[in-house]
Amino acid sequence: EPGLQGTITHFFRRTYRAVEAVKQVSFQIQPGEVVGFLGANGAGKTTTLKMLTGLIHPSAGKVRVAGHIPFQRKAEFLQKITLVMGQKQQLIWDLPALDSLKINAAIYGIPDKEYRMRVGELTEMLSLQGKLNQPVRKLSLGERMKAEFLAALLHRPQVLFLDEPTLGLDVNAQVGVRDFLREYNAKYGATILLTSHYMADITALCDRVLVIHQGQLVYDGGLDELIDNFAPCREVKVEL
Ligand code: ATP
Repeated sequence: EPGLQGTITHFFRRTYRAVEAVKQVSFQIQPGEVVGFLGANGAGKTTTLKMLTGLIHPSAGKVRVAGHIPFQRKAEFLQKITLVMGQKQQLIWDLPALDSLKINAAIYGIPDKEYRMRVGELTEMLSLQGKLNQPVRKLSLGERMKAEFLAALLHRPQVLFLDEPTLGLDVNAQVGVRDFLREYNAKYGATILLTSHYMADITALCDRVLVIHQGQLVYDGGLDELIDNFAPCREVKVEL
């Protein structure tokens, strides 16, 4: 079982009425891997991430994440994963960030002592010292995104699904998020599947990438080979 932890395996499809958002998709990710997930707008990335985290179920096929069927949303599964969507936030706007984080800790049943230890550690890794007593709305966009990471990682998930986590951030804040993710991965060996329209995120963090095009996986392999000689990548709108 330990070898399986964090492994993502799936062979699935998803239709919305007549729209085949995700056709036949299949890949496997090993524990500790950091994999980039690329594709143009509407290619099917978010739909795939929603299936992997159990927010929607596949129309056909199987999804397994860390040994679980995501759609069952079992507590044991939810403790092992996290989903960060750059355009959505879970922290409560008007509360001091620390109070909002405390609610997250309660939801996951994290004991107070453990909560304080984890917040302390993540605050340092994210360079958020002195910021979290303020209401969430007073934080800069970059600080808020980092605080969102803190919230999303409090329960020490093994598998991180990150959908555009640097969207709209300025270059410095993007670098901050990237540095943090690298450090977090090295420290905890977390498995990460990451989408981004910023190629710098992908090149900084991923050796391997998946490319989805019109609901189909068209590439699964090394990032360097993709850039060098894989034709469909020209259709993938990423900012280089
Ligand atoms: P983006 O980068 O814009 O988020 P994406 O690669 O994440 O794009 P998806 O959001 O997965 O793409 O969308 C894939 C396809 O499924 C698109 O054609 C989209 O219009 C369609 N789609 C997504 N969600 C729904 C829905 N709830 N109902 C109907 N069609 C949907």
